[in-house]
Amino acid sequence: MGWGYQFKCEKCGTEYHAYMGQGYIAAYCVYCCRNCNYWVSEEPTKVKMCPKCRKRMHRANDEEARMLPCPKCGNAAKPEDAGYLRWD
Ligand SMILES: [Zn+2]
Ligand SMILES: [Zn+2]
Repeated sequence: MGWGYQFKCEKCGTEYHAYMGQGYIAAYCVYCCRNCNYWVSEEPTKVKMCPKCRKRMHRANDEEARMLPCPKCGNAAKPEDAGYLRWD
């Protein structure tokens, strides 16, 4: 069963979500870049490089996944505002 979080940016109103976990046909995890704050939610791979700054990204833990910044304006989400979602 996969899970994830959905957000609505309080600054610009952008809605975004991140998937995590293992589902029936797919698996996702969240990779974060400490250098530029870019993140992606996609299939797990061994090594994930940041497409923006070419630094190595790390796998976000659950706590980090609830504070993912808005992909549009970079405003960090508040953990208490992250909506829990289930997929698959
Ligand atoms: Zn925003
Ligand atoms: Zn980066």
